[in-house]
Amino acid sequence: KERDDDTHYFDSYAYNDIHEIMLKDTVRTDAYRDFIYGNKHLFKDKVVLDVGCGTGVLSMFAARAGAKKVISVDNSNIIDKARANVFANKLDGVITCLRGKIEEVTLPVDKVDIIVSEWMGYCLLYEAMLDSVLYARDRYLAPDGLMVPSECKILIAAINDSEYVNDNINFWNHVYGFNMTAMKDKIRDNVDIIHLPDISLASEPVAFCHLPLHTVKTEDLEFTKPFQIEIKRDIESLDGFLVYFDNFFATSRNQIIPDDVKAETWKDPNGGIAFTTGPKRKETHWRQGFLVVDEDKSAEMKAGDVIKGDVTYRKREENSRAYDIEVAWEAQGKKNKQLWFMK
Ligand code: SAH
Repeated sequence: KERDDDTHYFDSYAYNDIHEIMLKDTVRTDAYRDFIYGNKHLFKDKVVLDVGCGTGVLSMFAARAGAKKVISVDNSNIIDKARANVFANKLDGVITCLRGKIEEVTLPVDKVDIIVSEWMGYCLLYEAMLDSVLYARDRYLAPDGLMVPSECKILIAAINDSEYVNDNINFWNHVYGFNMTAMKDKIRDNVDIIHLPDISLASEPVAFCHLPLHTVKTEDLEFTKPFQIEIKRDIESLDGFLVYFDNFFATSRNQIIPDDVKAETWKDPNGGIAFTTGPKRKETHWRQGFLVVDEDKSAEMKAGDVIKGDVTYRKREENSRAYDIEVAWEAQGKKNKQLWFMK
């Protein structure tokens, strides 16, 4: 019997709760809205494909912006709600909702002008939905078509946060007068999805991976990439690394975002939009991934010290939707390596 990583995945999108969380994430939803409504000339009379439409919100933005036709695909039962939402807003003349995997459905057109999708997961790639969006791009997007969003960057920063370590790890040292240190076993093996305060940053974040969505290939979605960060204040311990992503919505497929540009400060004269899921701005439902380093790998560091290393993203062998992250780094002449699982 073939292994099935999908049934549970699509079931998890069948109910209101997850869609409510996404719609109430205003950083996320406002960015799509502002890009689409702020660039109506791009959508006017165009054919748009919404990969994974959920409630249909992005499809309805595109229809209201003047799209000629919107095709909305989802393989979860939520598609019935999308159809009802489209009907209730009298957009059923423009939007067609189709149930199925984008890899398997038959679309009523051969090519589309724009693909809009909200496929991002924890640490960007968890869930591996981007694979499906790239499939849709290669099969359906016209050669001069536009991907919305158009580019993502994954960033890493060094973290020093004794409050986190005390609350989440050392907490187990004394619980109601008992030693529960057994609970600390493997506690640093999982990526902790959490929004850390800006003050936890021990370095400025740097981008280590760029995904230009018009050209990136499926093979690029597993990688080892180098990074280098500079410690910006004296710290008694390097507690871990923070991983998060920035998302860019450019108005043209030829616009590439320069390496050092961060979403929170990007001003695009062409009408592009960006948002960050990092610690310097409002929390999003993705929060950040905190990779807590083992105690024996944590080190005292001084402002100006440099950490060099590389980050590996690897799909888990027994579940193609799960990613594991490995960081190898050198600090103060000592080489370290640690693997974290995403639950
Ligand atoms: N676009 C909506 C929902 C985003 S969540 C919004 O922005 O609010 C992602 C959705 O994509 C889920 O509903 C999931 O069921 C769907 N999805 C993921 N992979 C898919 C695939 N391969 N084919 C069809 N739908 C998919």
